[in-house]
Amino acid sequence: MSIRGVVRHQEWTLQPDREPDAEPTSYAMQCAVCGETSPVHGDYSAPQEWVLAHGGRNPSHHTYREIITRPWRAWWKP
Ligand SMILES: [Zn+2]
Repeated sequence: MSIRGVVRHQEWTLQPDREPDAEPTSYAMQCAVCGETSPVHGDYSAPQEWVLAHGGRNPSHHTYREIITRPWRAWWKP
């Protein structure tokens, strides 16, 4: 007796989720020097303000990463 896997070829579609019930896009900034991360916000301006405050407290921290969480959806044709 042997175990066999079932392989099925399906065509997938992948795109950003813009449906009304999609998860919200969110933004955060992370200091690339110390790794501290801002709170997550629904718009990009508050994390940028966090950068200015963080830089004020840490004058040698000059590089940052923007972390954007964007919902996507994937589905296949039946
Ligand atoms: Zn820092």
